[in-house]
Amino acid sequence: MSSETKEFKRILVTGGAGFLGSHLCRRLVREGHDVVCMDNFFTSQKTNVTDLLDKPNFELVRHDVTMPFFIECDQIYNMACPASPVHYQFNPVKTMKTSVLGMMNMLGLAKRVRARILQASTSEVYGDPNITPQPESYWGHVNCTGVRSCYDEGKRCAETLCFDYHRQNQVDVRVIRIFNTYGPGMHPYDGRVVSNFIVQALNGQDITIYGDGSQTRSFCFVDDLVDGIVRFMNQDECIGPVNLGNPHEFTIKQLAERTIQLTGSKSKLINEPLPHDDPKQRRPDITLARELLKWEPKVQLDEGLQKTIDYFAHVDMRTFKKPTQ
Ligand code: NAD
Ligand code: UDP
Repeated sequence: MSSETKEFKRILVTGGAGFLGSHLCRRLVREGHDVVCMDNFFTSQKTNVTDLLDKPNFELVRHDVTMPFFIECDQIYNMACPASPVHYQFNPVKTMKTSVLGMMNMLGLAKRVRARILQASTSEVYGDPNITPQPESYWGHVNCTGVRSCYDEGKRCAETLCFDYHRQNQVDVRVIRIFNTYGPGMHPYDGRVVSNFIVQALNGQDITIYGDGSQTRSFCFVDDLVDGIVRFMNQDECIGPVNLGNPHEFTIKQLAERTIQLTGSKSKLINEPLPHDDPKQRRPDITLARELLKWEPKVQLDEGLQKTIDYFAHVDMRTFKKPTQ
């Protein structure tokens, strides 16, 4: 199955200036679609999409997804939401509003204009999972009062809204659960582990391992992920949820060691306290994505890390503001 979409569509991408959103916009613009990128620039900036600004089929709109938005479009990718724990915990009430009110606004829009809508959900709906790998049928193990719950429960509620709008109003929804994704274009002050480790290694600073580094994550390269998202949006068989991620699992200590080796850095590994409710393990079961989309990640960790290191080695850190300032 080809992931190329054949007809030209008008496509709204919320959070389109963010890390994943900007890669997705670039892909959709390249395919010839009319792309409207909507963002409030909480964790991103206009410069993330500078290369697209002069394209006749790209439009950038500053708007907050928690407020209604009126547009005619064929597809909506709802990517708006801070994704790094540091950022989503900065204003947790706003994070919840972004997931819940934002989802309601976008589902309402999809209902009015009969657009297909894809929700960027997350592996965090599984919480601190007690089975591994995590299949879509697993209901999760989430603390609903903890510091991560503004994100986890917000995304769980957004999924509920998708399925209720589908049952009640026949809205054509697609729900994906994204597992840790990284690559060029990440914000240097993003706070997530891959960007932190690479920036620290390149600057010769200590590499901050939270806890003892035995917790695991499975890291997907951004190009693979975007390919999976577009494939899923453009198939008619399944509304989801479907896991998208790379099933190769690494401990955080292993990630730190790979980063040191690939950068040739002299940085030392240090241990800092483990944040509350930090999941101990995370690895996607991608059987469904393999069968349905004929999709699986192609870029493995060393190759993806090298591309991300090359990006951070050349990016001008002074042009980025810290989202929490
Ligand atoms: P990101 O922080 O780089 O991008 C999020 C974008 O949403 C930013 O441009 C931000 O300014 C925008 N945004 C935030 N709140 C908004 C609001 N109220 N109105 C309009 N725009 C708003 O994060 P990302 O990694 O690109 O994640 C994109 C989406 O994918 C998020 O919904 C996230 O939850 C989901 N996701 C990402 C990962 C990952 O590993 N990258 C994993 C699971 C889920
Ligand atoms: N982490 C770390 N050092 C850092 C940043 C993160 O050890 O500088 C750990 C974090 O505690 C978690 C894992 O790396 O166990 C992944 O964190 P990230 O914030 O990237 O995403 P999460 O999967 O937790 O949402």
